[in-house]
Amino acid sequence: MKILVLNAGSSSVKFKLFDMPAETVLASGSIERIGETRSRAHIVFGDSEIARSEPVSDHETALRLAASLLKESGTLPHFANLAGIGHRVVHGGEAFYRPTLIDTAVLNKIDTLAPLAPLHNPANARGIRAMRTLAPGIPQVAVFDTAFHHTLPPEAYRYAVPEHYYTRAGIRRYGFHGTSHGYVTEKAAALLGKTPETLNLITLHLGNGASACAVERGRSIDTSMGMTPLEGLVMGTRSGDIDPGALTYLARESGMDFDAIDRLLNKQSGLKGLAGTNDMRDIETKMRQGDTHAALAFALFVRRIRKYIGAYAAVLGRLDAVVFTGGIGEHSSRVRAEVCRNLDILGIVCDKRRNASLPPEGGFFHAPESAVALCCVATDEEKAIARQTLPFCR
Ligand code: ADP
Repeated sequence: MKILVLNAGSSSVKFKLFDMPAETVLASGSIERIGETRSRAHIVFGDSEIARSEPVSDHETALRLAASLLKESGTLPHFANLAGIGHRVVHGGEAFYRPTLIDTAVLNKIDTLAPLAPLHNPANARGIRAMRTLAPGIPQVAVFDTAFHHTLPPEAYRYAVPEHYYTRAGIRRYGFHGTSHGYVTEKAAALLGKTPETLNLITLHLGNGASACAVERGRSIDTSMGMTPLEGLVMGTRSGDIDPGALTYLARESGMDFDAIDRLLNKQSGLKGLAGTNDMRDIETKMRQGDTHAALAFALFVRRIRKYIGAYAAVLGRLDAVVFTGGIGEHSSRVRAEVCRNLDILGIVCDKRRNASLPPEGGFFHAPESAVALCCVATDEEKAIARQTLPFCR
């Protein structure tokens, strides 16, 4: 049974073709620079690769190109041969809290959530519309980045502002990266030989975007991203937590408008704002060369994570494991070591040698005396989406 997983962004479409239920990746690829004079399209299948460059004006043309690349690769003759299509949709608002079979009403509802995720939901919806045209009759499923966090209690999802800002304007915390936090929760539970329902975890998704999640008995009860993916940890180009008073100050004193503030906090801040690069590898190299800006960026990044670990340990009461994932969580032993340093007050003791020599597939790196397990697992949001799409397939 073949399932295609799609992640449609504003100027790109990424796709992965799975053979299910084996969860084998048959092909993966992307079409980038949609709307520009020349796109960049490529597909990888087995040890082979095809690359192309041609004008792609919109998402439907991009997905036609994806279909022709899949056909050329020999992995999928036609979209009609699919058993199902899984779409990553960033914002499910309060309406969607589980994988949802897409019909016109669902699509319209995703449209109405656009103001909550203006960069993402409209692009996700364009991908869905294109596939409804190109693959009519094939079940299409929306998997929402916010869904795993629908179990947040009100004291975690409400902000301390008057009630009508929540009821009338939808001002609340939703949380993101839910597909990843949910996936690594299951994977860590399997590694520990337990079921998620018996475990309290802190999961740390540390990539270009970064978020922490407090998982109680397998369910998200708190998470660091809020109404938008801007809140919480220091990220590649996002500030994470900042006093909202600083923004009103900037607007009042320097006359910055909302778009400029939005750009500042989403695109020009975080590691990039502090150290001039959002790549943790570069930051670690610069630190070794004595760059004080890189050292400060690293220190801020690590300190913010440690603060959330402390906070979530308090919220959870009992902590069984801390789980690291995402490009930085999976690959930077230095970040993992610094995050876990001197946390024995929480029962967390890192084994430096195990941490430094983890195999690519990850594993445990806590010391024998640690009360809390430390583990590193590779996330795979596409595989998680394929899994959640499978029950809807014929
Ligand atoms: P995205 O959120 O875009 O999916 P990723 O999860 O791929 O991002 O993570 C990207 C981040 O991972 C970058 O900051 C990159 O520098 C970092 N990274 C990747 N490999 C390493 C490594 N070996 N050491 C340190 N950081 C790494």
